Amino acid sequence: MKTYQMYVDGKFCDAASGKTFNVFDPATEEVIATCPAGEAADVARAVAAAKRAFYGGWRGTSAQERGRILLRLAERIRARRDELARIETLNSGKPIVESEYDMDDSATCFEYYGGLATKINGEVIQVPANAVVMAVKEPMGVAGQIIPWNYPLAMAAWKLGPALAAGCTVVIKPAEQTPLSLLDLARDFEAIGLPPGVVNVVTGMGPECGGPIVAHPDVRKIAFTGSAEVGKIIMRSAADQLKRVSLELGGKSPNIFFSDADFEAAVDGALFGVFINQGEVCSAGSRVLVQQDIYKRFVDACAAKAKTIKVGPGIERETKMGPLVSAEQRDRVRRYQEIGKREAKVAAGGGAPKGKGWYVEPTIFYDVDNSATIAQEEIFGPVMSVIPFKDEAHALEIANATPYGLAAAVWTRDIFKAFRVVKGLEAGIVWVNHMQPTMLEAPWGGYKMSGFGRELGHWGVEEYLETKQIYINLDEAPIGWY
Ligand code: NAP
Ligand code: MG
Repeated sequence: MKTYQMYVDGKFCDAASGKTFNVFDPATEEVIATCPAGEAADVARAVAAAKRAFYGGWRGTSAQERGRILLRLAERIRARRDELARIETLNSGKPIVESEYDMDDSATCFEYYGGLATKINGEVIQVPANAVVMAVKEPMGVAGQIIPWNYPLAMAAWKLGPALAAGCTVVIKPAEQTPLSLLDLARDFEAIGLPPGVVNVVTGMGPECGGPIVAHPDVRKIAFTGSAEVGKIIMRSAADQLKRVSLELGGKSPNIFFSDADFEAAVDGALFGVFINQGEVCSAGSRVLVQQDIYKRFVDACAAKAKTIKVGPGIERETKMGPLVSAEQRDRVRRYQEIGKREAKVAAGGGAPKGKGWYVEPTIFYDVDNSATIAQEEIFGPVMSVIPFKDEAHALEIANATPYGLAAAVWTRDIFKAFRVVKGLEAGIVWVNHMQPTMLEAPWGGYKMSGFGRELGHWGVEEYLETKQIYINLDEAPIGWY
């Protein structure tokens, strides 16, 4: 068992209270590490360090230098890929192949923002006055970042990359379930040239450690990824100081299959859309909408394939689905499985394997009504709800009948139909003939109750920038008013 510490002001340390919490391996249910249970006092120290680092130098660091630091961080992740992937899998349960992908993705994210740092430009604005007017971009200051457990290091990279490129300093809190990969990466922060205080990693529980980050008056912006429920708490708290927030929340994304789609690719896409990462994916295609004339065949084909998915410890290379992240999450998904059995018919799974580890079976419900609980609430596990539809209009009506709007996908060979449906979908990310590819260069975020603000691409960096208008008078004569 390992003892981890938080990373504040360039040093590893315990919580002021000395309290710790346990971190588990979801495949064995064993405690693998302890972490400091940070609270308001620890957050206050981290914010003070971040503020000193911001005013003491980081905001004046050249964009080239910030970019180089981000590129070195990417290099470290690539060099330590196997070790970090192993930690990620041990801590989150996800298949090792997926963790390796996540490490590559995190490195690529830092490379992207390393390059973008030198391309943050303002504008010169044409005005009628005899003046030069500019709009320049400036870093907001100390950013607070709160991240979930489903993609621990990748979610941290998506937030750290743009914040550091923009010139902000950061206090970041990983999820209580999965703090290890980020803490491990923090061991390299000094070596790559990150000055003390620029990135502070505080660990602890949501209300006790995340709450004080949101409430701290010296934190200028909050970036949050997690549940809609906590998103609302954060927005309410941030309102007291009219603090800027960006919220990347959950979803109940529709994955729509028209009968003219390539059948094999469609079945594959339906399974991948909701079973990847054990279904612990914000953009999971958890509502599978299938046109009536292929419906029965489609359900049967999905069920047959789902039953062949290899469920097991993430650390074993052949595993295609690992355990869920925690006992709490397993119980939550088990509850939805039981609700689903009352609301619809079971095509595959519906239970959990016996023995150690927080596993559940890949589960497919069909003949689901879109108003059912399993079609309306985010389950965040490997549970697919299949819903039949008649035609294009019917598909769109069902697809948009959800409080969420993170992602959606449409499968058809008809490009005209594809575009009509794309235009009709109320979602921040829409895929055609695929589901889940995530491009670091493109905007990521939701409509409706899936939140607001966009991560990734140049949109990601805007979230950490203020815009300053500068007016330079070129008229030497007095104003002449009085
Ligand atoms: P969560 O319970 O909302 O927690 C997310 C983070 O917020 C954790 O670090 C959590 O701390 C912290 N937190 C909890 N209560 C808080 C409070 N009162 N004040 C401040 N921080 C608080 O979500 P989760 O269960 O970890 O993650 C799953 C959710 O994230 C799903 O809804 C999923 O859809 C969403 N998600 C969205 C995206 C996206 O890009 N839109 C990506 C990934 C995940 P603890 O460690 O104590 O829980
Ligand atoms: Mg939580």
